[in-house]
Amino acid sequence: MTAILGGRPGGLTSIHLDEDDLDTRARLVVVGNGMAGARLVEEVLERGGADQFRITVLGDEPHGNYNRIMLSPVLAGEEHEEDIVLNSHDWYADNGVTLRAGVRAERIDTAAKVVHAADGSATPFDHLVLATGSYSFVPPMAGVRGDDGELKPGVYGFRTIDETRAMLDAVGRCTRAVVMGGGLLGLEAARALQGHGLHVELVHAAPHLMNMQLDAEAGAILKKSVESLGITVHLDVFATEVFGDGHVEGVGLADGRRIDADLLVVAAGVRPNTDIAVRSGLEVERGIVVDDQLRTDDPDVYAIGECAQHRGEVYGLVAPAWEHATVLADVLTGADPDAEYHGSRTATKLKVAGVDVAVMGVNTPERDDDEFLVVSEPKRGVHLSVVIRDDKLIGATLLGDTRKVAFLTQAFDRGAPLPEERIRLLVDLSDGAEDVGVAEMPQDSQVCNCNGVTKGAICGAVADGCGSVGAVMDRTRAGKGCGSCKSLVKQIVEWAADGEVAEDPAASYYVPGVPMPKPELMRAIREHDLRSVSAVFATLAPGGQDDAKSKMGLTSLLKMMWGHDFVPEKDGEFINDRVHANIQRDGTFSVVPQMKGGVTTPTQLRRIADVAEKYEVPMVKVTGGQRIDLLGVRKEDLPAMWADLGMPSGYAYGKSFRTVKTCVGSDFCRFGLGDSTQLGIDLETRFQGIESPAKMKLAVVGCPRNCAEAYVKDVGVVAIGNGKWEVYVGGAAGASVRKGDLLATVDSPEAVLTLAGRFMQYYRENANWLERTYDFVPRVGLEKIKQVLLEDSDGICADLDAGMQRSIDAYTDPWGQDREQPATPGQFRSSLPLIPLPKVPVR
Ligand SMILES: Cc1cc2nc3c(=O)[nH]c(=O)nc-3n(C[C@H](O)[C@H](O)[C@H](O)COP(=O)(O)OP(=O)(O)OC[C@H]3O[C@@H](n4cnc5c(N)ncnc54)[C@H](O)[C@@H]3O)c2cc1C
Ligand code: SF4
Ligand code: SF4
Repeated sequence: MTAILGGRPGGLTSIHLDEDDLDTRARLVVVGNGMAGARLVEEVLERGGADQFRITVLGDEPHGNYNRIMLSPVLAGEEHEEDIVLNSHDWYADNGVTLRAGVRAERIDTAAKVVHAADGSATPFDHLVLATGSYSFVPPMAGVRGDDGELKPGVYGFRTIDETRAMLDAVGRCTRAVVMGGGLLGLEAARALQGHGLHVELVHAAPHLMNMQLDAEAGAILKKSVESLGITVHLDVFATEVFGDGHVEGVGLADGRRIDADLLVVAAGVRPNTDIAVRSGLEVERGIVVDDQLRTDDPDVYAIGECAQHRGEVYGLVAPAWEHATVLADVLTGADPDAEYHGSRTATKLKVAGVDVAVMGVNTPERDDDEFLVVSEPKRGVHLSVVIRDDKLIGATLLGDTRKVAFLTQAFDRGAPLPEERIRLLVDLSDGAEDVGVAEMPQDSQVCNCNGVTKGAICGAVADGCGSVGAVMDRTRAGKGCGSCKSLVKQIVEWAADGEVAEDPAASYYVPGVPMPKPELMRAIREHDLRSVSAVFATLAPGGQDDAKSKMGLTSLLKMMWGHDFVPEKDGEFINDRVHANIQRDGTFSVVPQMKGGVTTPTQLRRIADVAEKYEVPMVKVTGGQRIDLLGVRKEDLPAMWADLGMPSGYAYGKSFRTVKTCVGSDFCRFGLGDSTQLGIDLETRFQGIESPAKMKLAVVGCPRNCAEAYVKDVGVVAIGNGKWEVYVGGAAGASVRKGDLLATVDSPEAVLTLAGRFMQYYRENANWLERTYDFVPRVGLEKIKQVLLEDSDGICADLDAGMQRSIDAYTDPWGQDREQPATPGQFRSSLPLIPLPKVPVR
């Protein structure tokens, strides 16, 4: 992962030369490679600064620059590290900027104009910018640190990617977490940890959540929303002690209570990193004191971002940091030598613990004649309020519904006139006020807070030819942060394009690396007789370029199309498909033998038990798909285990047909209206191992009581009596929950087999890679699917049935095949360092 963010051994991106006598450009040195520092470099380069400056950046994190705001989704497992990179190491090299990552600046010799760093280097400068940000504040608590002064193992701050990685590493070993702090960071950490299955308790010293931004009433509504996620909230109480020898075991509160926990996140506020300025004799109060040109009391040293204190204010948000960067770049490059920063009116739009929040200015009236309007719907988790003074908006709080944020931001920023009927500020009275808001928003209004994108930049992208919302988002990064601004981005794009917004072509590509919708791609593959992934890239991808993200999808498609005649290439498969087992967190594998319809025999069970003992399998578990899972198997043991099991693969790992759950049906159940067990076994026998764009899970039940959950499967079959069966498609009961749509009622098990096969083949031929049926069915439309599959409106039913039959005929059990002859010598050799699994608890 370090590699993705660009860490390099020794932390050096390029060789640092102290002097280059031939280079007459001034030396601009930036300390801090966070959001402010890197943005300043971007702004300087945009103003042609590469001709004026030799730029060096010193950053004590060993990475390129990443979007710190997005650490919350990374912790929640919703984003990957690689998606939050803003400037990689290559970016610096490509722009002629020397990045010295992993190097901490210690002291500035302002007289000699040199920065001394922890690695012993001395870097001369003509202009120096401090952008050192903040650190997590850890309040004094008994036992929070070990004897070495470091945080006790199990205690984490939440500021950097390394801290986020450490927490992600710990969550699997922990069951109970305490989060200290009910502000933005604490709430985000609590939600993320809770999403990893930990029991989370949040301790907040103030009487209501997000007390810096919200009033008491809004705070109370937010508390309800947070509690509805299953997080326990303790308000108005301090944590005073951390228990545990060597590792966190619990947290003590000021009122004497103790909360057991094996993980503690301290999110109790931040403090500006000012020590380098203090050590160097610069003026420091709460932050490094700067004037309206972001200059410290040394004329060649500047400070921006969270470490800077301007007119008494220290900001804790990214928007002011970006305003600092813009002004300072104007000053340094001379683009506007008189540019000044006069403070930020912070209007913040965020998603906190899944709840949309927008706050600006004050949150309660301060004077007797301030107007205060509140719309509160606690049941819906919505609380909206505005404060108006002398006909001007001086504050707004939107919780749970931020549709009015565009107009309110504009009114707040620009003092735009307010409607007579004040209620229109908060509630849309269907007179098109929202459209007017978008049209009238000034060009420099910030739309995407996460990536600092203005309305002007979005309109600029449209003017430059970006014809779809997706293209604009790709170009500007707008909407690619927390996502709360996406609808506003869309409105602006539509407005800027005068309604002429194109469908995003990439949205219809089967895989990103080959710009073709699936039917066209399949036609081209047939036309050119392309039977391997590399042949597809060579013939159909722009410039013949390989695309790693597209390989798995193409492998699946080619297997479906060519059956036996597909030419496999091993790097075109997931590790799971290469070894026919499911890779686990610690690098071991899980093995799931086939158990058709969830039915097993004493012989099978005995064999599984023997194998589990022989290979010392740490956990044997019944799965949700009615099979038995052997977890924690070493890669090199896989072939021998399969041989001993003598059972086919259950395909619990593939993007393929997985399993058919069944209930006991008419054989044993007194309500049974059909033999669901036999039909389940028949379905699994027929369609076993068929590859597909995403996994397919099926179920058959013997009556509408639905004991095996057929209504929420990719294909679900329900006996309704008189020999009839209902076939449902597009259901889901995982991270998404959707009841399947009734495709048809048929009157024999054979008809179920035909229709299920036809639907799955239609899905295999038309769904995008990784598109589950619950997205595919609504996208195509149930009526269309019915016409094609039941009325043969496109005349393709016979082809669909034949295509499915071809795949069925081409099926071979991979365990049987690769056990005899590994596809590569290393197929079953472990390449991952195994980390010890926590001992499986005996319950
Ligand atoms: C999880 C999380 C979620 C957030 N969500 C939001 C949000 O939704 N909206 C919002 O507006 N803001 C949010 N913020 C705050 C936002 O990230 C900060 O306001 C922003 O990063 C400030 O930028 P900065 O460059 O001043 O500081 P930073 O981004 O912290 O960068 C400072 C950099 O300087 C480095 N450094 C410090 N001292 C030295 C030294 N002596 N030598 C070399 N390098 C040094 C640090 O290691 C760091 O890399 C969030 C922050 C976090 C942690
Ligand atoms: S098994 Fe499924 S539900 Fe359980 S932790 Fe893994 S992904 Fe989540
Ligand atoms: S779904 Fe109906 S037939 Fe099947 S076990 Fe439940 S009650 Fe019995």
